[in-house]
Amino acid sequence: MDKKINYSALRLKVGLELHQQLDTKYKLFCNCSTQMKEKIPIMIITRKLHPVASELGTVDIAAQFEYLRNRTFHYQVFNNESCQVELDEEPPHELNKEALDTALQIALLLNCDIPNEIHVMRKTVIDGSNTSGFQRTVIIGMNGHINYKGKRILITQVTLEEDAAAIVSEENGKVIYRLNRLGIPLVEIDTGILEGYTPEEIQEIAYLIGIMARSTSKTKHGIGSIRQDVNISIRNGPRVEIKGVQELGLLSKVIELEVQRQLNEKVKEETRAANLDGTTRFLRPLPGASRMYPETDIPPIVITKDYIENLKKNLPEPWTKKLERFKTKLKLSDDLAKEILGSEYLNLFERIVSTKKVEPSIVASTFVSIIKDLERREKVEVNRISENRFIELFDYLQDKKIVKEAIPEIIKYLAAYPQNGVGDALKELDLKPLTPAEVREIAKEIVEQPNITFEKAYGIVMSKVRGKIDAQEVMKIVKQMMK
Ligand SMILES: [Zn+2]
Repeated sequence: MDKKINYSALRLKVGLELHQQLDTKYKLFCNCSTQMKEKIPIMIITRKLHPVASELGTVDIAAQFEYLRNRTFHYQVFNNESCQVELDEEPPHELNKEALDTALQIALLLNCDIPNEIHVMRKTVIDGSNTSGFQRTVIIGMNGHINYKGKRILITQVTLEEDAAAIVSEENGKVIYRLNRLGIPLVEIDTGILEGYTPEEIQEIAYLIGIMARSTSKTKHGIGSIRQDVNISIRNGPRVEIKGVQELGLLSKVIELEVQRQLNEKVKEETRAANLDGTTRFLRPLPGASRMYPETDIPPIVITKDYIENLKKNLPEPWTKKLERFKTKLKLSDDLAKEILGSEYLNLFERIVSTKKVEPSIVASTFVSIIKDLERREKVEVNRISENRFIELFDYLQDKKIVKEAIPEIIKYLAAYPQNGVGDALKELDLKPLTPAEVREIAKEIVEQPNITFEKAYGIVMSKVRGKIDAQEVMKIVKQMMK
């Protein structure tokens, strides 16, 4: 990528829309599960959607574009994960309280004003991703902000909405959707226009907003659980919307490539879709402002002061603060701090570093790099190891009964024999720590070999003591002995 581009001079303007699925028990308007565990549909329902002129008003250009495609929609129905509500055969049930609580927490963490009454609205959707032809959405926060590099990043609004059905395939006007994603609670967070930031800074801002949502611990993980739409323009030119950036790490690349494209091509206002490599493809002309209608099946919901006060009292620690704390107090690098925040072992990590005298960076890298490495390269089934075993492992490290170099071997052993403890691993693997005197004893013959270089001697000694003493210590001892 060309790092010399001056994005301020290009007047790069970016707007972000982050979508995060919530990990609630039920969907937003029915009691279907949000797990998306089912693989095989129990039936397929075929529909043809017609935009209703009265609802669309003057059918706009995007609507016509979609409509003219003349498609049929096929919906895969899943046991326990879709019902008459998803099929639009039954009115929506009451708004899910767990989802509302979580969405309001997110809005409060983002310093939003909360309306004292909320209204579920219908937003016209004509790509078939919603069986009803509209998406239900409710604004639950406005005028929020987060701080970034001493500046305020405006959060224009936070909405709670139903996720759309996921597309399975599209061929010759035949579109297949999975109904189990439809209706999963989704929080959308919109920023004001970001100006004067580089693509990398914008990615960092998106990251910080994302972890605010995740502070609630009620968000889904994994592919597709976070999706970002991004509006990009330069030099006050046409605005291009890019939909569906699924990986946060790709955001800066998507923006950089789009700026390149806008510099090199004649650009029209349009909606594009993000590809997995950061490039984009044309999707459709830019739609007009969304058309919204009140959802007549659900009455307005009053948000009382007590309700908000109660939520405020129980607000979790914002992860932006946690991230800072990991970096300053625990002395983790930025990368390591972010990795452990994104790790399934986060709670266990915090429990261990708050109760034991062990270096937090060792604990963090055990849970991110060492475990990942063992799983990927050696197919070690780390998830067979219980939390208590990990706690025991770091007890041993705290009490200097093992050195940190022994950790990978012990984890391998514990995964293979989940019934056994760390003590068994030490016996089996002969990983009792060595004293410097013992290492000197082992090194004696080696360093005395004629013409041996330091590198060679160190290598041989290490092969005999690996996992039983700190490598730095061995280096020091061998150096001393060869003086
Ligand atoms: Zn349902």
